[in-house]
Amino acid sequence: MSVIKSLHADLLSGKTTARALAQNYLDVIKEKEQDINAFISVDDDAVLTHAEDVDAKIARGEKIDVLAGIPGGLKDLISVRGGRTTAGSKMLENFTAVYDATVTTRLKERDALVLGKTNLDEFACGGSTEYSAFGVTKNPHDNTRVAGGSSGGSAAAVASGEVVWALGTDTGGSIRQPSSFCGVVGLKPTYGRVSRYGVIAMASSLDQVGPIATTVEDVAIILTRIAGHDPQDATSAHSSDRVYEDYLSGDIRGAKIGIPKEFLHSDLDADVRRVFDEAVARYESLGAEIVEISLPHTEFALAAYYIIMPAELSSNLARYDGLRYGYAIDEKMDVQDYYKKVRSTAFGAEIKRRLMLGTYTLSAGYYDAYYKKAQKVRALIRRDYEKAFEKVDYIFTPTAPEVAFKIGAKTADPLTMYLADIFTVPINLAGVPALSHPIGTIAKDGVDLPIGGQLIGKWFDEEGILNAAFAYEQQTQ
Ligand code: GLN
Repeated sequence: MSVIKSLHADLLSGKTTARALAQNYLDVIKEKEQDINAFISVDDDAVLTHAEDVDAKIARGEKIDVLAGIPGGLKDLISVRGGRTTAGSKMLENFTAVYDATVTTRLKERDALVLGKTNLDEFACGGSTEYSAFGVTKNPHDNTRVAGGSSGGSAAAVASGEVVWALGTDTGGSIRQPSSFCGVVGLKPTYGRVSRYGVIAMASSLDQVGPIATTVEDVAIILTRIAGHDPQDATSAHSSDRVYEDYLSGDIRGAKIGIPKEFLHSDLDADVRRVFDEAVARYESLGAEIVEISLPHTEFALAAYYIIMPAELSSNLARYDGLRYGYAIDEKMDVQDYYKKVRSTAFGAEIKRRLMLGTYTLSAGYYDAYYKKAQKVRALIRRDYEKAFEKVDYIFTPTAPEVAFKIGAKTADPLTMYLADIFTVPINLAGVPALSHPIGTIAKDGVDLPIGGQLIGKWFDEEGILNAAFAYEQQTQ
């Protein structure tokens, strides 16, 4: 059952008011934040004023959207005019956005209630929200574990009941992996489906904005409201827009679901494998036909991603020099020294690592050997998916190779952190849509920790994967 729809019904029937709802959720935030740290900023006064506006509209009998007055959060690299937008970085700790992102505008037009801005790895670079300049976000199921990342704040805020919905961004798994770790539903739309205008860029050919919520229907409701062509974003697609929540029939009889053998090699965690196999059986019991498929270039995806992403990152982050944007220091010195000092002070270690890698692979002499080659690999990966989708409707894999890990477990060795992205990055390289939905739990230290399944669809077939996940959810609830 959609949480958004039931709260909307309560607002219309007078069972509650938008103000009371907002106050309830702000109280939950106050109570839980010391344990979770999902938010970078919350503006109580602005939220309550907005909620009162929604109540006034209801009182006047104006037609309101289903999302009006429903509390949510935005990852703190999505611009909200006049509000602080930090990207999780000291570089932008005092940056105030001067315009609204297109997704923000679209949500505002619907009177969606944004309670605050959620925590993330610095500039979305990471998979655990440990690389934020604003502290680690903790997993609501076990506070000694990470929430995942980089949209860890968004996923943890939804999972802990601090908000009903949130937006994240996903460049290599940053919506899906924290959704898996926190036990919620998260969708990365097809590249180009949702506008990136006003969203601080990480790697522009991979970045997508998408929704996180506790139910598939709520994710569909949010997607309907943020998707669609935007002339302000040159990569925004002229795709047919849909009311995604209207496509949830829950019937997947006859659908072909491909299981790629490359994702299930023998070193996959045995518990993840067991939960995944049970989920596959469940899809089969819903009438889907399960087919083994091959995505032969999967093993090169991580390497290609960790060349393409830093290259684009280094180019996108060149603007943060303390003069045009970002952290400034009040000292007189040569301009080169100034850049060096600003960037050394205000960027964290992981960003510096990626900027060095990216600058190196784009430099003369190395461009062909690394960047161009990685782009060729990317084309092969895309072709794998084109071929697979000639045979099947959807592809199903685990979202992550493991459950939420302990805080600090991977920070000493960046490579182990990168390996956690193994199942999610190929999807961004191909550009196809994918969602993560809960498929079970694995007990660790006496706590049942959630794990997600990743349902991948054809380009612009968000309604297909949403419906399949909806069918699954209906059966398991
Ligand atoms: N964990 C991946 C990385 O560190 C993905 C990040 C993302 O999707 N924003 O690059």
